[in-house]
Amino acid sequence: MNNVFEVAIIGGGPAGMMAGIEAKTSKNKVIILEKNQSLGKKLLLTGKGRCNLTTSKEIPQIIDAFGKKGKFLYGALTRFSNQNLRQFFEEKGVKLKVERGGRVFPQSDKSKTILNCFEKELKKKKVKINFEFKVKKVIVKDNLFKLINQEETILAKKLIIATGGKSYPQTGSTGDGYLFAQALGHKIIRPEPALVPLIVNDKEINSLAGLSLKNINLSFFCEDKVFLKEFGEMLFTHQGISGPIVLEFSKEVYKKLNKGKKILAQIDLKPALEKSVLKKRIHREIEKMPKKEYQNLLRVLLPRLLIEYVLKITEVDKHLKNACLTEIQISNLINFLKDFRFEITGVMPLKTAIVTSGGIDINEINSKTMESKIVPNLFFAGEIIALDGPTGGYNLQKAFSTGWLAGKSTN
Ligand SMILES: Cc1cc2nc3c(=O)[nH]c(=O)nc-3n(C[C@H](O)[C@H](O)[C@H](O)COP(=O)(O)OP(=O)(O)OC[C@H]3O[C@@H](n4cnc5c(N)ncnc54)[C@H](O)[C@@H]3O)c2cc1C
Repeated sequence: MNNVFEVAIIGGGPAGMMAGIEAKTSKNKVIILEKNQSLGKKLLLTGKGRCNLTTSKEIPQIIDAFGKKGKFLYGALTRFSNQNLRQFFEEKGVKLKVERGGRVFPQSDKSKTILNCFEKELKKKKVKINFEFKVKKVIVKDNLFKLINQEETILAKKLIIATGGKSYPQTGSTGDGYLFAQALGHKIIRPEPALVPLIVNDKEINSLAGLSLKNINLSFFCEDKVFLKEFGEMLFTHQGISGPIVLEFSKEVYKKLNKGKKILAQIDLKPALEKSVLKKRIHREIEKMPKKEYQNLLRVLLPRLLIEYVLKITEVDKHLKNACLTEIQISNLINFLKDFRFEITGVMPLKTAIVTSGGIDINEINSKTMESKIVPNLFFAGEIIALDGPTGGYNLQKAFSTGWLAGKSTN
């Protein structure tokens, strides 16, 4: 049984790498099977290449951020918390910093720093890594896991599946783990996009691509009722809208669209100003530049990329002198600034989502160990587990904490 590994891990992403480090002891043989030529391909993309690896929030807040099922993470987060994670890196010489909203990044602003740290640690711990090993099939025979690819079979006493979700398939996360788990008797909650841009099927809105709005209020309406509202940043893309608040809301919007509901987005471009205050401000500007053109007034009030759009929808000649603006034209402008609306027609496909929601049902995993309740000696870690968090470092913390716990539990 010399060629039998004590622990095999499918997937060399954040969860799999952390699991490998923790599973390895001085006595056992641990292997990571990774289908790419390198580890952590998705990790390198995180935080726009800067890797927002965790949050500085307290454990209860982290659990809350994962919603109703967040309690599942209690075991993993109390054993290996965000503080432990920060210590893990800092002990290895990786300096970290905390930014707005408690987002933690490496001081280098490079995700490569985080990946290098893992690579070094895996090497130091002598964890074997087989690259370009795409597991095709997993079977259990004679109390051993057989991990089969085209040419080879790896045997292991314990298995950790850390194959990630199904988004950004170019990074290797193609949902293979769902099939392995399903074949072994697990229930898979349908993978759906979470943290994904929204589609707006309107050429005029799409012409705003590249426009980034800060300090705005974004609300979503369904049947004339606001169901989501947040202050923050967003941006227009060639197909619709994206940015932090949009991504955060996308799962809820997706659910409503799936039920055939009509969804409207509403932007308040001047959330700090009541309509009456805004009106006074506009009149002040007009008094300051009565002989200047309407387009000059718009330049004072709006980002450059929005001006053409506003001219079109308010149907006012851009050369009109400000002093000639009627009260109705001013009132239309105020309405636009406070209540810019358009319809959301869909969400971008799963492959473009930052995170996949769905995966292995948490009811079938022991939250104290990450072991399967169905197949002994089988463990899960990372995004494959059906629990997704918001942006802000939560999803990587989940990958690291569940990876750590799965790895430790194999000892
Ligand atoms: C663009 C982008 C930016 C993001 N930014 C952030 C951020 O800043 N902060 C944050 O918290 N989260 C972020 N996320 C989410 C975060 O990256 C994931 O939640 C995290 O990578 C999940 O880790 P994982 O190890 O579970 O899976 P993955 O990172 O998906 O790794 C899975 C690994 O398994 C391998 N694999 C799959 N199938 C097989 C197979 N059959 N055989 C062998 N190997 C296989 C894959 O090649 C891959 O390397 C971002 C995601 C994206 C797409």
